[in-house]
Amino acid sequence: MFEKILIANRGEIALRVQRACRELGIKTVVVHSEADREAKYVKLADESVCIGPAPSAQSYLNIPAIISAAEVTDAQAIHPGYGFLSENADFAERVESSGFVFIGPRAETIRLMGDKVSAKNAMKEAGVPCVPGSEGALPEDSKEIVKIARAIGYPVIIKAAGGGGGRGMRVVHTEAALVNAVQMTKSEAQNAFGNPTVYMEKFLENPRHVEIQVLADEHRNAVYLGERDCSMQRRHQKIIEEAPAPHIASRHIVRIGERCADACRRIGYRGAGTFEFLYENGEFYFIEMNTRVQVEHPVSEAITGIDIVQEQIRVAAGEKLRFKQRDINFRGHAIECRINAEDPFTFVPSPGKISFYHPPGGPGIRVDSHIYQGYTVPSHYDSMVAKVIAYGDTREQAIRRMRIALSEMSVEGIKTNIALHQELMHDARFIEGGTSIHYLEEKLAEKGEVKK
Ligand code: ADP
Repeated sequence: MFEKILIANRGEIALRVQRACRELGIKTVVVHSEADREAKYVKLADESVCIGPAPSAQSYLNIPAIISAAEVTDAQAIHPGYGFLSENADFAERVESSGFVFIGPRAETIRLMGDKVSAKNAMKEAGVPCVPGSEGALPEDSKEIVKIARAIGYPVIIKAAGGGGGRGMRVVHTEAALVNAVQMTKSEAQNAFGNPTVYMEKFLENPRHVEIQVLADEHRNAVYLGERDCSMQRRHQKIIEEAPAPHIASRHIVRIGERCADACRRIGYRGAGTFEFLYENGEFYFIEMNTRVQVEHPVSEAITGIDIVQEQIRVAAGEKLRFKQRDINFRGHAIECRINAEDPFTFVPSPGKISFYHPPGGPGIRVDSHIYQGYTVPSHYDSMVAKVIAYGDTREQAIRRMRIALSEMSVEGIKTNIALHQELMHDARFIEGGTSIHYLEEKLAEKGEVKK
């Protein structure tokens, strides 16, 4: 096992990784920007290194600064968390070529999955069901493009191979709009991602977002830790996640989960990962793979009892997975609410000093957060300040516990979206379960209409 790990991230995930390391008896080095100097997890770490000014381009994305921090502190491995450099294949390569272990998959796997065309091809080969669409990249010839769209059937969606973060996509409803839409998406993709390759998929009109968590070791062992439903989204940003996904029979999950684990073995996947699917009319359609730990990992931890971050570290150290699929039992239900520093109704970010903080507690409640009373939320980064996870024997109990937790939680001095979560925990459609990825935006639009 490693003796010392460098954590190349910030906020709640930096603290989460640090806790996993401490439990494993591993020393931690935290790198931070000038804006995060006062963060509590920086002080709790065994060592800390300032790697640059507040803007992430000069700190959390500064590869040479992070590598030299690992060198001066004699860290053996680097945990990238999520976001920032976590899915940057060049970073993974630099880490390994500098003699450190990258806690994640091999650089070539990150590269394969980072290009959506190659990822989809690899998944098709591995027998994972994908959204019907073009065979790889779209050709130049407009007539060919029109033919492909006719075969798929409208509406279609044009997507950039190098896209991410919900950008580089365009929905097309009619043949008249097709060729122009392809050209526009191509030039946007070139500008935004430096890669003009685009492909086409059937546009699913009312899907849910259901994803499968996997864990794999270097010895071709792979398991799935069940599914998560992350359909409650605004602008492609998830705000509530839960496990298991309501109203999906477990035999369907077993079938898709086994496919994902099998795909991991085929591509030689290492570490934690997530296969994201759109789910419509009882079918799963692969859209992309995330080759890192995800924000919503705690709901899977809650229903399996497995510490995903510790397992990531263990397999990065070359250990074999300590369990087989048959050893994994799913029990109860967990829901996560992402608490963001933002206005709950206009969504305008609200950084600043927290004048009062009282976190919730009680049976089945977990809070993953780096904030404290007196902490100043910097304006430079993502607005998520806490995750509240409620676990119960049933979904109803998890919802009841979440309502109590949200009512106890108090964050003053900045605005948060707690009020929105409280409203959603009483929303009849949410309580019923199984809403589509459009539900939250439709609800918010309706509320806006009512206000006007
Ligand atoms: P990104 O990497 O930018 O997040 P994804 O491929 O994961 O891109 O797609 C992001 C979101 O776009 C999905 O969660 C879904 O809401 C929508 N989307 C993508 N592909 C389709 C599709 N074929 N049909 C309907 N919606 C889609």
